[in-house]
Amino acid sequence: MEFNVAQLLREPVGSTRHHKLCGEDGTDVRGDIEMVRTDRGILVRGRLSTCVETTCSRCLCSFSCPVTFDLEEEVFPTIEVFSGAPLPSPEDRDAFTIDEHHILDLGEAIRQYALLSLPMKPLCRQDCLGLCEQCGHNLNEGKCSCPARLQDPRWEKLQQLLSQTEDLSEQKTATRRPKTGQR
Ligand SMILES: [Zn+2]
Ligand SMILES: [Zn+2]
Repeated sequence: MEFNVAQLLREPVGSTRHHKLCGEDGTDVRGDIEMVRTDRGILVRGRLSTCVETTCSRCLCSFSCPVTFDLEEEVFPTIEVFSGAPLPSPEDRDAFTIDEHHILDLGEAIRQYALLSLPMKPLCRQDCLGLCEQCGHNLNEGKCSCPARLQDPRWEKLQQLLSQTEDLSEQKTATRRPKTGQR
């Protein structure tokens, strides 16, 4: 994700470049970015999409989570473009810099923005079934053999009623059986 910004640094404040990212450089970063010459460096901004390897909050499997985010970052040259004289480091220690060959590498900035834009509870898919609370089986791979159980104690009465109805209907089927046999 490297850009040679030597020419842009030589231009007056407000000069602009547009770049389209289409997943080159072995990354899957896509989107449009704009680089604007500022009085101190270059303002990089744009809306980008990529994928981040993360863990599903329900089933704990690793998956590639698509994210979209707005990048906006001012980057600073480390040497003066006309004289080649070294420049003092930016006041903000976390600021991104342009190297001594006027190469701006956006890889790290994009990686950090992408990580920050991950959802709090990533899901491998919206209807992820998660893990069985009793045996830990991944329910996306099929049911486990644990007995079905309603977890909330407030539902216990209802569950009792349900099982009573099940018993009743079983009895009914039992009594009906001879009839079907008569057909
Ligand atoms: Zn999942
Ligand atoms: Zn289970």
